[in-house]
Amino acid sequence: MNIKQIYINSDALLEGHFKLSSGNHSQFYLQSAKVLENPKTAKALADALAQQIKKSGLNIDTVCAPALGGLIAGFALATALDVRSIFAERVDGEMNIRRGFEIKKGERVLICEDIITTGGSAMEAARAVKELGGEIVGIASLANRGFCKSGNNNIKTKANCKLSQNIPFFTLDDFTFEMYSPDDCPLCKNGSKAIKPGSRDN
Ligand code: ZN
Repeated sequence: MNIKQIYINSDALLEGHFKLSSGNHSQFYLQSAKVLENPKTAKALADALAQQIKKSGLNIDTVCAPALGGLIAGFALATALDVRSIFAERVDGEMNIRRGFEIKKGERVLICEDIITTGGSAMEAARAVKELGGEIVGIASLANRGFCKSGNNNIKTKANCKLSQNIPFFTLDDFTFEMYSPDDCPLCKNGSKAIKPGSRDN
């Protein structure tokens, strides 16, 4: 499965000057929502990811997705794995499990994102699950921005990767774009202004 081609075909690989949720700037942005607007594509991607996870022999009770980005991927993956699907959401900046979702002590939870950039939101969702007694058995994402090593890539984990190194990380493909701090962004230096993806036409 050619994940990059799927993103390109879905107009989900954007080129411009973007301000990422981490505050860093990038020339490229992956808009997974555009890929996932086609339910058949979402299902195919989740099936491929589920296959990889099943092959690893990992035992999972529940998939938990950090809202909003992870919702569709998480639901599709839980469907493919035939397990429960819940989500964590940010309230006043802090990731929480709400909506009456319960987590049993020792429940085996996999965190699912659409994209893992630094993995910050995924780890925040993991913390919220652990606080309720759940055990984090894996992290999964449709795509990886190339800062974190996954089970099937040769990328060296970069300093800005926040994923815990002793939790298995599953992903379908790696996109390794440069990311710049705002004070050292060549696009800013050229006089263009970074826009927040999701606003205006993207
Ligand atoms: Zn910039």
